[in-house]
Amino acid sequence: MEANGLTVSIPEHRLPVSYAPDVVVVGGGASGVAAAIAAARNGAKTLLLEQRGYLGGMGTSALVPAFCPFTDGEKPVVRGIGLDLMERMKAASGEDYLRMHRDRLDWVPIDVEILKRVYDDAVLESGADLLFHSFVDQVLLADDGRSISGIVVGNKSGRSVVQAKLYIDASGDADLAALSGVPFHIGGESGELQPGTMCYLVCNVDKARYDRFLAETGQGNQMPDTVQEAQRNGDLPEGRKRISGLAWLSNSVAGFNFGHVFGIDGTKAEDLTRAAVEGRRLIEMQMRFLRKYVPGFENAHLVHSGDQIGIRETRRIVGDYTLVVDDFLSMRTFEDDIARNAYFIDIHLANAQSAMAIKHLPKGESHGVPYRCMLPQGKSNLIVAGRSVSSDRPVQGSLRVMPNCFAMGQAAGTAAAMAAAEGRDFRGVEVKRLQRLLVEQGAWLGDGKRAGDVVASGGGPLVYEEENDG
Ligand SMILES: Cc1cc2nc3c(=O)[nH]c(=O)nc-3n(C[C@H](O)[C@H](O)[C@H](O)COP(=O)(O)OP(=O)(O)OC[C@H]3O[C@@H](n4cnc5c(N)ncnc54)[C@H](O)[C@@H]3O)c2cc1C
Repeated sequence: MEANGLTVSIPEHRLPVSYAPDVVVVGGGASGVAAAIAAARNGAKTLLLEQRGYLGGMGTSALVPAFCPFTDGEKPVVRGIGLDLMERMKAASGEDYLRMHRDRLDWVPIDVEILKRVYDDAVLESGADLLFHSFVDQVLLADDGRSISGIVVGNKSGRSVVQAKLYIDASGDADLAALSGVPFHIGGESGELQPGTMCYLVCNVDKARYDRFLAETGQGNQMPDTVQEAQRNGDLPEGRKRISGLAWLSNSVAGFNFGHVFGIDGTKAEDLTRAAVEGRRLIEMQMRFLRKYVPGFENAHLVHSGDQIGIRETRRIVGDYTLVVDDFLSMRTFEDDIARNAYFIDIHLANAQSAMAIKHLPKGESHGVPYRCMLPQGKSNLIVAGRSVSSDRPVQGSLRVMPNCFAMGQAAGTAAAMAAAEGRDFRGVEVKRLQRLLVEQGAWLGDGKRAGDVVASGGGPLVYEEENDG
């Protein structure tokens, strides 16, 4: 059925300009939500565009069940807008939820319907405009080739152009950067990519009975013994020998990040289609496993699976600075830090025979994330926030999680508002002033840390398993 390279020319046509904000944010995941709120709060006329009918990106559309740690094991490292949003979600959740998670800052379970409402309200309260069901598939460049003059948006109203002064690419896949010709890497040296996971929610579970089972068998939440027994019996496929994450929303409802679909490039529609089908097939098998092997899940009912497979890794842009594993291991501080990261390197196996790669920083430590990682080479009024910023593959395996995406998004949005107010592009932003604004508005950039500081004790062997991972 494939069309074997056939092409068709479409006639040139004129498109209306539908919006002309100061700042447009493409993508409403953790990075885009924080970027839009920061840009609007700092005075920019801001439009947030999202292809789905709700915000949250992987945390809602792919049902990723929990927020990764906001702390370095001792104190919150990601603060500001991200931490506020997470606390707002907690506060809006029911008594059952609060009893379990009120004081938690790490691995906080996501109540997906509450989070969607929190994001809607927070973005609209900031003064930003929202446009859902709108996909960006073309970037128009000015004659200089360096600046973007518009982006083409398709939705039920037709195709139109959004013309902004500044563009924030929070698409997770660096779509805007790729469409405007920014160089990028994808996956590892031989094209390997972290697998996708179709996450899901189950209800009608008995948590007390499940807790007794864990205590009796001496297993943690990832249930390695039970998963491996089922793999030996052919009741689960080979691959990872434990569950990645099981998050309890109440005593009877749990979210799962379990198992992998391999060989998926999240920038290809065909791969996403195969992953959706394979992911749902895998869930059906896992539901049979849970009912048969895991006390407390005998009557478990599958409520919902992700609207799409969860994608951990696609493009990484080439930016003004590429954050590399040595920066992570030596916990380096940079002149232009806009965030700090303490999450471990968490690279999921690229195929059923390979292993996880996990590397922690010491408790209480973190490294800086420089502003330059978000500045794509060769483009002046475009900034990238979220999991596709400029880093090597191991660092992407750490930076990619939602707390970091919030922090990078807040920085990108604040920088955009400054640039819009001063009639500058992103490289014209005075970084010291950006850092001051971020700290005044709640972000944490490392007490007493100075550019060039390194803490050279992050070496040592890779650890292969973890109680929870993303
Ligand atoms: C299975 C899995 C488990 C994970 N576990 C955890 C975990 O436990 N905790 C944690 O914190 N993180 C976890 N992560 C990582 C984290 O969820 C993502 O890396 C993070 O959500 C990335 O945020 P983002 O804002 O960069 O992109 P995304 O969350 O991907 O958001 C991008 C948004 O842009 C929209 N978009 C994309 N392209 C376009 C376009 N062209 N036009 C319009 N809209 C567009 C998308 O619809 C989406 O809403 C996990 C990821 C996966 C896949």
